[in-house]
Amino acid sequence: MAAKRYLLTPGPTPVPPEVLAATAAPMIHHRGPDFKALYARAVDRLKQVCRTDNDVLLFTSSGTGGFESAVANLVSPGDAVLCVSHGEFGERWAALAGVYGADVRRLAYEWGEIPRAEDLARALADDPAGLVLLVHSETSTGVVSDVEALAAVACDAGALVVVDAVSSLGAVPLETDAWGIDVVVSGSQKALMAPPGLALATVSEPAWERCERTTSPRFYYDWRRYRRAVEAGTPFTPAVATVAGLDVALGLILEEGLETAFARHAALGRACREGAKAMGLELFSPDDESAAVVTAILTPDGANAKELVLSLRERFGITVAGGHGDMATRLFRIGHIGWFDVFDITTALAAVELVLSDMGAPIERGVAVTRALEAYAEAVAPA
Ligand SMILES: *Cc1c(COP(=O)(O)O)cnc(C)c1O
Repeated sequence: MAAKRYLLTPGPTPVPPEVLAATAAPMIHHRGPDFKALYARAVDRLKQVCRTDNDVLLFTSSGTGGFESAVANLVSPGDAVLCVSHGEFGERWAALAGVYGADVRRLAYEWGEIPRAEDLARALADDPAGLVLLVHSETSTGVVSDVEALAAVACDAGALVVVDAVSSLGAVPLETDAWGIDVVVSGSQKALMAPPGLALATVSEPAWERCERTTSPRFYYDWRRYRRAVEAGTPFTPAVATVAGLDVALGLILEEGLETAFARHAALGRACREGAKAMGLELFSPDDESAAVVTAILTPDGANAKELVLSLRERFGITVAGGHGDMATRLFRIGHIGWFDVFDITTALAAVELVLSDMGAPIERGVAVTRALEAYAEAVAPA
């Protein structure tokens, strides 16, 4: 195995050195003044990144834990919940709501399809539900849905809206308050450029009201404990070192500026798509500017994607993501969220080109990197 490693997946993502350094600082006590100040600043920065004045709660867990907190606090047994599902994560949230006894309805699409607001409006008109679960960036397919339009339809129907923004927050525009989103769930380890270990949930006033009426059992994830603990910081011992890292990472994001970061992600997505197409590969993720989080690519007939992913890691120390479920042998995914630049994209493309040719696939050599660099330049400085 190559000694040098490249992490080119859509989460966890590479962590900038100053963020890593913050996580290695001497431990501080979570009830002391240093941590209180750190926590308050991190939460304030999160509000800016989420573009919300609502409460932002932090949990020591993966993103799924953050989503479970939303379900535990908003779903009572028998509640009608509509889950818009177009991939691995939509299916996960439908299953999770089911575990809490929800009466789950699915608005289900083929993987790779983009959900449509008019379908959601029709589904809610036919079969009303008080809670709608949406996935902003469906990391399994590369689809970034139009959450603004979907949330508008759900709000019109009087439903509360919960959005999985685990891989989208910080990478593509998300306006929590302006789009009327009640709950945004995200995690530290994707576009937020911090190590894994923290999840967040933003909670609107209507979501707080519903939370008070929910009968599902909850303890660690009881949002009310976090709200009551605001003065103390957190109700339980959080991942102190990860909070320190996240705070620095959020500072970097805000220093770059959210709009600049969104433009950079869009340009990286475009570079990745153009490079992949130039070598003759077929995209699975949509071939448009929305797909700024992760590029899902199909391998040519006869080239097993699992073998490609393994070979990239063993020969070059490069980690890209495989496909979920049925797609595992046909699909691989190059992430480009967080601390990425165009040379991460060209590294991935150059290595994919080499390995696929060695596997005997009909790949056009020597064009992908050039095309990716051109596409990136066009995107950052349009003619
Ligand atoms: C990564 C991810 C999650 C959360 O996964 P965890 O492993 O629990 O952190 C949820 N939704 C989406 C869309 C993701 O990309």
